[in-house]
Amino acid sequence: MGLDVNSIRKDFPILEKKIYGKQLVYLDNAATTQKPSCVVEKICEGYYSCNANIHRGVHFLSQHATEAHEAARENVRAFINAPSNKEIIFTRGTTEAINLVASSFGDSQCEEGDEIIVSQMEHHSNIVPWQLLRSRKGIVLKVIPFDENGELQLEKLDSLITNRTKLISVTHVSNTLATINPVKEIIKKAHEHNIPVLVDGAQSIPHLKVDVQDLDADFFVFSGHKVYGPTGIGVLYGKEKWLELIPPYQGGGEMIQKVTFEKTTFNELPFKFEAGTPDYIGSTALSTALDYVTALGMDNIAQHESELLEYAREQMAKIEGMRFIGNVSHRGGLVSFLVGDIHPYDMGSILDKLGIAVRTGHHCAEPVMQAFGIEGTVRASFALYNTKEEIDILVAGIERARKMFHH
Ligand code: PLP
Repeated sequence: MGLDVNSIRKDFPILEKKIYGKQLVYLDNAATTQKPSCVVEKICEGYYSCNANIHRGVHFLSQHATEAHEAARENVRAFINAPSNKEIIFTRGTTEAINLVASSFGDSQCEEGDEIIVSQMEHHSNIVPWQLLRSRKGIVLKVIPFDENGELQLEKLDSLITNRTKLISVTHVSNTLATINPVKEIIKKAHEHNIPVLVDGAQSIPHLKVDVQDLDADFFVFSGHKVYGPTGIGVLYGKEKWLELIPPYQGGGEMIQKVTFEKTTFNELPFKFEAGTPDYIGSTALSTALDYVTALGMDNIAQHESELLEYAREQMAKIEGMRFIGNVSHRGGLVSFLVGDIHPYDMGSILDKLGIAVRTGHHCAEPVMQAFGIEGTVRASFALYNTKEEIDILVAGIERARKMFHH
């Protein structure tokens, strides 16, 4: 059964908004998704009627908030099919989760000369934490390149792996090229060499059904705000054996067992990695968002978005001077493009005046831009509430911009 998009759109009041007197066409979902009313209401309900700091209180509200936070953890576990709640760490988002691994795993498991492998299509959040580790520990950062279509050149992975390789960290879906990477295959290959793999799921979690056990990922990270949840909350899944092995990331709050000035012992998983008051309102609202997409069906969402994508590419390809950046067949719900010599910023500004929200620039993936010798792209990214009519409006907007520049 497909999605009833007209009825779904009613769940997202912001989609009714007029921008410069025009109906909003929101196509910046890869940056962040809009929130259904149930998520916004959950946040309000949290502050209006359930707010109390969790874990340490004996009083009713504290216990209630603690139960909600831990129920959210269980819901996240089920959503990605992790084996245990102990393996679900709440973070501020994807970026913090990768920084956690780069610090805790990197500092404790890497020596000078050890190697971390990333891909050429990573978001800066999966590059810079490893460069910081390189400054601290003298590790070597190696890169799996992609070809002219935006496909990872996996045959090169064999020659990149050595006995100094400590971790491979790759994105599941590229936020600029839309490539869906064969992470299961990468993980299988890495495990043949006993190398753990971190998967950046920021762009896959809203679009694909994720099963961390099926992938056999050692770490899987994502942000709540990209999957219809609130900002400021995200998830690090890590296999228990790794999370037990590596030290805490930050100190304070819930992550301790006993503190004296001489010595501190750490709490058990998952609390060992959750220093300070967690975002327990955010976690419960994220849980509501996950319920929302689960009820619609991840397979239905994927199907809807891939139909939108195919339609968009078909219609956009008719525009004179259209150049797609990223041409793989197995791709997620976004399209990066340039038209003639029109600067992405100019295209974005004209579309904005027509009420169409797209993103322009390097999309925090400058190495991708460098590979194509461009400064940036225009990116339209789709969500479960987008329609073919909105794509028609986008295409008409692009055509209008093209005519303004190339009359
Ligand atoms: N990784 C990828 C692939 C992304 O697309 C993004 C955000 O655009 C991030 C990481 C960073 O996510 P956040 O800013 O929510 O931490």
